[in-house]
Amino acid sequence: MSNFLESVSKNFDKAAAHTGLPEGLLNQIKACNSVYQMNFPVKIGNEYRVIEAYRVQHSQHRLPTKGGIRFSQKVNQDEVMALATLMTYKCAIVDVPFGGAKGGVKISPREHTPAQLQKITRRYTAELIRKNFIGPGIDVPAPDYGTGAREMAWILDTYMQFKGGEIDAAGCVTGKPVTQHGIRGRAEATGRGVFYGVREAVSHKDDMKKLGLTPGLAGKTVAVQGLGNVGYHAAQIFQNEGDSKIICIAEYEGAIYNEDGIDVDEIMKHRKKTGSIMDFPGAKNMDQRKQVLEVECDILIPAALENQIRMDNAANVKAKIIAEAANGPVTADAAEYLTNKGVMIIPDMYINAGGVTVSYFEWLKNLSHMRFGRMEKRFNQNTYSNLVGLVERLTGKTIGVKERDLLTRGADEIDLVRSGLEETMITAYNEIREVKKRKKAVEDLRTAAFISALNKISSDYLALGIFP
Ligand code: NAD
Repeated sequence: MSNFLESVSKNFDKAAAHTGLPEGLLNQIKACNSVYQMNFPVKIGNEYRVIEAYRVQHSQHRLPTKGGIRFSQKVNQDEVMALATLMTYKCAIVDVPFGGAKGGVKISPREHTPAQLQKITRRYTAELIRKNFIGPGIDVPAPDYGTGAREMAWILDTYMQFKGGEIDAAGCVTGKPVTQHGIRGRAEATGRGVFYGVREAVSHKDDMKKLGLTPGLAGKTVAVQGLGNVGYHAAQIFQNEGDSKIICIAEYEGAIYNEDGIDVDEIMKHRKKTGSIMDFPGAKNMDQRKQVLEVECDILIPAALENQIRMDNAANVKAKIIAEAANGPVTADAAEYLTNKGVMIIPDMYINAGGVTVSYFEWLKNLSHMRFGRMEKRFNQNTYSNLVGLVERLTGKTIGVKERDLLTRGADEIDLVRSGLEETMITAYNEIREVKKRKKAVEDLRTAAFISALNKISSDYLALGIFP
């Protein structure tokens, strides 16, 4: 068993011991329900390459199952199983009505042209369709490491070619471009969710006191590993909306540091222009990219891959809070060591659940065939406008144009998506925190999050009367 799957399994067992649930039920919740491994040929240049790929449905207790598709050379069955497993608990924690799933294609996207990636993605989708592993009520993929809106558009288009007559076909995949049945705010969703979750965590005075920190995000120093979809949006929102200072950033090519802060938008422009984050004016290049994990900072955001903080480097970690934006960035042993040292780890299955939350909104939009806000925006705007007019008449005073606009605005889709995400992240954090407070023997947020998820999932099974 790989480190990652082993860590997920260990974390599950640790939490399960606190639940008092029957062993048979726990075994059923823990097991992966379906694992589909495929090998298919794709013509690349003049030769045929055999591509290894997977789709794992961890739990079908709720349908459809849901989870991203990863394109990476490191993909293997254990990794996809671990990721699918986390999805089940993630969905339960943020109350989205899906079972967990994940897909993986063992390729390095960097080494392929867009045309080749398109061929691979379309063939992978055709394999999923053939085996009934995709569909708006069956299993709904989304982006993950190495994939994005472009790949989701190819998946939808392939699905439509096979199942064009299905009225809800657009809900077969989420994370699509807005013009292709996507939803505003999905690209930023995971990073924004990380922001809302950490902001909630640092708002609790007592918890911050234990870490020697003041409440609030303003002025907090942040280090980010991986400036991809999740890391970039998280860094940008921490900087622009949290007023935090991004002091260290690592990417594939290396890491940079500036104690006065690195402007996230400027570093993106610099990377686009030079092809690298290195040699950014005002920042110093670090010797190795992994040093990002060891800098002195308030909040560390690993947003690249699993198994980054292990027993061999955990002692060097100086962050007070680790927000696991990536899945599985801290191994189970290292997490236990860091928790004992007083570090707060905000677990992956909660903190990166913003993606699946907004994917849920996108799926609902696809099933309803209508943009959020379309029915009520004008109605609300007119009602607020009448109210402002009434206040003006009664007081004899006039409200300024800017204030009036602010008071009378009806919500657009993006406003509703962000509001739904914010509500979800805040509610879920406080649920987890309550479990931790109630169960004195539980020392970390991950175990509390697992317990919260297990209670919700077990009630689905218990309602069926299968388990005594
Ligand atoms: P991405 O491919 O957009 O970005 C990942 C970035 O990390 C890439 O730019 C890559 O070059 C960089 N990277 C890889 N190895 C690195 C290293 N050793 N040091 C520094 N940088 C490195 O992927 P993503 O979608 O942002 O996903 C990142 C993580 O977040 C994954 O663990 C994924 O499972 C998780 N996640 C993603 C989503 C989502 O909505 N995309 C949702 C939940 C969780």
